Amino acid sequence: MKFDILSLFPDFIEAFFDHSIIKRAIESGRVEMAVTDPRTFSKDKHHHVDDTIYGGGAGMLMQCGPLFDAVESVLPEKGPRDRVIFLSPAGQTFTQDKAKQLYRDYDHLVLICGHYEGVDHRVEEYLADELISIGDYVLTGGELGAMVIADAVSRMIPGVLGDSGSAVTDSFYEPILEYPQYTKPADFRGMKVPEVLLSGHHANIARWRRKEALRRTMKNRPDLMEKLTLSPEDKKLIREIVQEEEV
Ligand code: SAM
Repeated sequence: MKFDILSLFPDFIEAFFDHSIIKRAIESGRVEMAVTDPRTFSKDKHHHVDDTIYGGGAGMLMQCGPLFDAVESVLPEKGPRDRVIFLSPAGQTFTQDKAKQLYRDYDHLVLICGHYEGVDHRVEEYLADELISIGDYVLTGGELGAMVIADAVSRMIPGVLGDSGSAVTDSFYEPILEYPQYTKPADFRGMKVPEVLLSGHHANIARWRRKEALRRTMKNRPDLMEKLTLSPEDKKLIREIVQEEEV
């Protein structure tokens, strides 16, 4: 999987490439990540890439020319497995399902980061295949969103996570939050790790984990429960949780 991030702040993005799991994924050749600064395509002698807004209004907009040129430089011939994404608060909200879909359907993501007051609308109309927002708030630039997408999609790639099981048990792989996890010490200032996890009894541990994942989801994200397909065992666990919570 290749990610090309178009940003006016390449140093900010490069720091992301240079740490932890993403760094190892790049070194192992499982992902390729590059950043391109649209400023290098500015025709202006001062390398400006922004200008005032037609019709008036506060602030400056990123011009479309340098962004079209930058996309064409990283994507000279666009194929069906290439996708140009513009980070925008006006886009569909990014989710784990969207990360899965991007991983499944594409080999190359071009992520355009806006800045200033935003970007000339022709980028949205003619250059981007889709718009993605990372949440209902406005950030100063698209960089954090591009990193969020690149990170979430990279985790899907086999071998990127040391333990290949991790992505499957992560919150949202199914619409359920992850079960609580603990590491040593078993007793920290009297706060004890649940006994069952120390028992070595795999079936009991699996049942406890499923039950606590359900409990956590019911408490923190009840909206997800409607999307979850419940097995007969899940229904039994939910009845137990409801009884315990009533006590
Ligand atoms: N005036 C724009 C509006 O109201 O939609 C906001 C522009 S924002 C200050 C500058 C850039 O940050 C946007 O072009 C976009 O690339 C990025 N950005 C801001 N919020 C975002 C969000 N929630 N998700 C993704 N990108 C975002």
